[in-house]
Amino acid sequence: MKKVPLNPRRLLAIIGGTVVIFGLFAYGAYRYGELARALIRSEVQVSLLEVVGVRQRESIASLTAALASRASENAALTATLDEVRRVLGEEQNKNTLFAEQIRDITGTVGTLQKLAETDPELIKKYSKVYFLNENYIPARLSAIDSRYLYDVKQPQLILSDVLARLHSMFAAAARDGVTLQVVSAYRSFAEQAAVKSGYKVVYGSGANKFSADQGYSEHQLGTAIDITTPDRAVFSRFETSAAYTWLVDHAHQFGFALSYPKGNAYYQFEPWHWRFVGVKLATVLHDSKKFFYDLDQREIDAYLISLFD
Ligand SMILES: [Zn+2]
Repeated sequence: MKKVPLNPRRLLAIIGGTVVIFGLFAYGAYRYGELARALIRSEVQVSLLEVVGVRQRESIASLTAALASRASENAALTATLDEVRRVLGEEQNKNTLFAEQIRDITGTVGTLQKLAETDPELIKKYSKVYFLNENYIPARLSAIDSRYLYDVKQPQLILSDVLARLHSMFAAAARDGVTLQVVSAYRSFAEQAAVKSGYKVVYGSGANKFSADQGYSEHQLGTAIDITTPDRAVFSRFETSAAYTWLVDHAHQFGFALSYPKGNAYYQFEPWHWRFVGVKLATVLHDSKKFFYDLDQREIDAYLISLFD
């Protein structure tokens, strides 16, 4: 075998090549190790994520279950609330019914009391045909304000419950430029007889036509007034006065009605004679163009309850 001499250049090349090969191998091993570690890390991460994922799924499932149970609890509560509302509603209805019954009873008692306190004579028809007991005396009488009198030296009385309305009516007329004056108001049975004879002196036997039988007149009730004006003391001219026109249009607003209109079957026409029958009835009469004596007594009696409303 032929021995090849080992020259230094070649030896250097071999050593160098060997070093490079080892270096490359070492680098490769290092990279492999690094990649392997990275792989392990990512696998760990993946399994961690899986664990987290499982836990989250579990949480979601338990939350869903909790929600479902809450929902059923809510449904139960809603049902309970509905029941409570229903029972409450029933109780409220009962209370309302009860309150209505109490109100009805109170109203009935009030109505009965009002009726018991209102003199039924005050709404009865009295004329030549319907008689008032000669002993009848009104419950309470009050003096009419002297500024509304035709003659201040002759004080006039009226039923106390009617006084304020009479004053209001006379004041309202005054505001409209119409002066009303009371010639005569309450008259007792005895005074009535005196008036009758007085009329006879002034008017002769013709006085009987309008003062006859006035012992049974509405004046004895204390709710009727004879009205005139400062310049028209004579009754027969009252019909053409502005005062009469004003009364026809407005007296009902204060509860007064004309008792004996033209052509009535009970008395001669008395445009000056007005009787308090209550605002409600007077307004019904005014609006329907009827008169007190046109109505049946039974129909009139229904207004007793509202006489002083
Ligand atoms: Zn009269």
